[in-house]
Amino acid sequence: MLSPTRDRVDKPVAYVRFLLAAQRIGIPVLAGRVGAFGLILEALGIAMFDSGLGQAEGFNLASLNRRKTVRGDSSSAPQGSRRIYLRPLKTTLPSGMVERILGERGLRSSFACALECCRWRDQQDLGERCREHYLRVRQDEVAQVGRQPTSSMRLSDLHNDLTEARELALVVVRTLRHRGHEPPRFDHLDRWLAVIATVTELAAAA
Ligand SMILES: [Zn+2]
Repeated sequence: MLSPTRDRVDKPVAYVRFLLAAQRIGIPVLAGRVGAFGLILEALGIAMFDSGLGQAEGFNLASLNRRKTVRGDSSSAPQGSRRIYLRPLKTTLPSGMVERILGERGLRSSFACALECCRWRDQQDLGERCREHYLRVRQDEVAQVGRQPTSSMRLSDLHNDLTEARELALVVVRTLRHRGHEPPRFDHLDRWLAVIATVTELAAAA
């Protein structure tokens, strides 16, 4: 089980090391695109499939051998249990938490989405279009990574994005605490930054 949001740094790094080694000796690898971790793989030029909404930051290797279920299909999920990807935080959160965050006037503008999914639409209804939003945002994120010609430039861009996400996360945590709400955890952003640092060295040595 690989869960980049929970695992310590060594496990994702070992996974990346394995993927790079397999790729180098010509073994085709198909890695799961696991949230922001998937963007790191993308930056390294590792071929991927999308693990889909609801599993955005954790996917089970063993589940690949099982029949695909509709668990990730948000349209069948009851209200309140939907999970919404917030690009500026590089994090998927439960819709209730997202509503709380977007309900804060001071935070809302940081989460404006300029893509087709959300343009001209009320930010408060994000939950209703969470799947379309997720797909368009992921597509745009992957395209953005692809615009840089070298993996070190791509990793450096991701490092900047995650650093900004971590700064915004601090503001979100502070605001929610101030209102007496339990904020979500964002430790995974620190771990991903550490993974990028290590992986940048691996990529340079490859
Ligand atoms: Zn959107």
